[in-house]
Amino acid sequence: MLKKLPLWAKIFLGMGLGVLWGLIAVWAGWETFTVDWIEPWGTIFLRLLKLIAVPLIFVSLVKGISSLTDITKLSRIGLKTIVIYVITTVFAATVGLTLVNLMKPGSVFPEEKQEEYRQKFGGQIELRQESAREIEEYSPLQFFVDMVPDNIFLAAGDNSKMLQIIFFAILFSIALVLVPGKGTDTVKSFFDGLNDVILKMVDLIMRFAPIGVFALMAALVVDFSGDVGIFKALGMYMVTVVTGLIFLILVFYPVVIRIFGGIRVPDFLRGILPAQLVAFTTSSSAATLPVTLKQVTTELKVSKSIANFVLPIGVTINMDGTSCYQAIAAVFIAQVFGIELTLAQQMTIVLTATLASIGTPGIPSGSIVMLIIVLHSVGLPVEGLALIIGVDRPLDMLRTVVNITGDSTVSSLVARSENELGYHDEPEESEASL
Ligand code: ASP
Repeated sequence: MLKKLPLWAKIFLGMGLGVLWGLIAVWAGWETFTVDWIEPWGTIFLRLLKLIAVPLIFVSLVKGISSLTDITKLSRIGLKTIVIYVITTVFAATVGLTLVNLMKPGSVFPEEKQEEYRQKFGGQIELRQESAREIEEYSPLQFFVDMVPDNIFLAAGDNSKMLQIIFFAILFSIALVLVPGKGTDTVKSFFDGLNDVILKMVDLIMRFAPIGVFALMAALVVDFSGDVGIFKALGMYMVTVVTGLIFLILVFYPVVIRIFGGIRVPDFLRGILPAQLVAFTTSSSAATLPVTLKQVTTELKVSKSIANFVLPIGVTINMDGTSCYQAIAAVFIAQVFGIELTLAQQMTIVLTATLASIGTPGIPSGSIVMLIIVLHSVGLPVEGLALIIGVDRPLDMLRTVVNITGDSTVSSLVARSENELGYHDEPEESEASL
């Protein structure tokens, strides 16, 4: 029976059992056993996630950007699409950041515990603060200087240098797009194949997630000596993420549609509802793509040529729900661990959440691995993932709804600006003109 359960349910179960084990261990005095024999499985799971992070971000960015080959031809529409996508993603990350700073879900967590955690991870944090101070002494452009690697192998060997890897991946893919021809087609299909392999690796690693989560949760509860404050914090964290996502769906997109969309807001919301429901149940914007395409063309009356171009790109690179969630998750983890983030670090979070959401595959829990990049970028302990992974599924469902709603919004905007809104069957040449 256990075998038939979907993965998210197993992860949830793993989390519950982990908490239970932790509480029993604290009560029965099995702390040392838990730390010696159970926690290592959690550490192995975390190591696997870290292991896959660099290849995943590199390959999916190269694949995402280089599949936009046509962009050079369709520079106007392409550029418009990408610029609006990036603006909405940055906005969503900023919404997340603002909310998490206002609601402070992690600070519900007992202060003595924060202190304990601060000491435990003190070395790491101090090192980070040291480098943050160093950065403040440097030129204001130091952030950009640090983004550019001078040695790609050194960057790849250090998980805290993810931004450098992203920089290299972007440069590499732009060059790949700029050199069309047979030789580079081989490189592209190599990356297509590699992307499939890496996604499979993620899939295999995630199968281990229920055990990993069990171990991490058990160790965490033992660490906190059965303190339930953490669960209150976790509840607040979920409320914060849901508030951010609902704000995007019910306020942000309708306002954007109202001002720039050329379509009535109730019609828009009614039109995309079926796609939203599919997104909610599948947790995968890629799997929802056929429904999104259908709704956007038949209900929102975006021309097929625009929808066929804008939506698939959106599924790959536009994830507003994901960037909002990543910003909240990163700061929440910082709050739980009692780490103060400077303004520069918060801005780094917006930037990395935007880039990481671009690199996130449109599959269930696609962004969990990517969150590591955000955490690393500001030196937050990856162990914090253990806290949030167990409650990720419902949040994943909702952020996938946001992701496809964002794609649909942008497709209406682009269609309107191109005068391609309101067509049912557009003339052949408009397809060709794309
Ligand atoms: N499940 C999300 C999607 O498919 C990605 C994520 O945020 O995990 O859009």
